[in-house]
Amino acid sequence: MSGKVLLIEDEELVGTMVRMNLESVGYQVDWARDGQQGLDLARTDSFDAILLDISLPGINGMEILSQLRTQGLATPIMMLTAQHEVSTKVKALENGADDYLAKPFDVTEMIARVGALVRRAQSDRVLPSDQMLQIGACWLNLDTRQALTNEGELTLGEKEAALLALLYRARGKALSRSDILEEVWGMDVSPSERTVDNFILRLRKLFEPDPDQPRHIVTVRGLGYRFHP
Ligand code: CA
Repeated sequence: MSGKVLLIEDEELVGTMVRMNLESVGYQVDWARDGQQGLDLARTDSFDAILLDISLPGINGMEILSQLRTQGLATPIMMLTAQHEVSTKVKALENGADDYLAKPFDVTEMIARVGALVRRAQSDRVLPSDQMLQIGACWLNLDTRQALTNEGELTLGEKEAALLALLYRARGKALSRSDILEEVWGMDVSPSERTVDNFILRLRKLFEPDPDQPRHIVTVRGLGYRFHP
């Protein structure tokens, strides 16, 4: 296996065991020993998978998970924890973790699960690019309308996907609300221009790093909208 894994774990024995075993099957492992260092690495470097301990000095793993997902990081994350409680597991998965492993864990199982996450990360990257729109850290697959958004993975509505594709393909060029209505909704129905604004608000919420200060889907005063990659 090849791939780059970020391990965020403060326990020396567990960390050494995980790193040694992952390196022995071919992974490159970066090991952060506290929450802040882990968060910084996850933000500044790119990884195929992140192994994240919950109980950490500084920022705990659950908080790191929330911050990374809120910022739109799509890297698969597996939580490592000493807690077996179902509620912790549920919370981790709700906050955007992809997998969950309770300590003490079987090394063979750990390696197999990391392998599954890394394969997923690597296959996501080779999807045909003309059908994949990238908006910051988010993605939209136009074939399936499957999107990776600030709210996690979801399927966009037909009009939402069509509107985003229209803006994306006209990137840099301002589109008026009436142009957008005609292209996306067609001539046969007549929703108000307010409909366009509502859809734009929804798309910003899903795809903008900060929906209140849009960087990609920007308003062109008195006209309509423009997309910046
Ligand atoms: Ca710990």
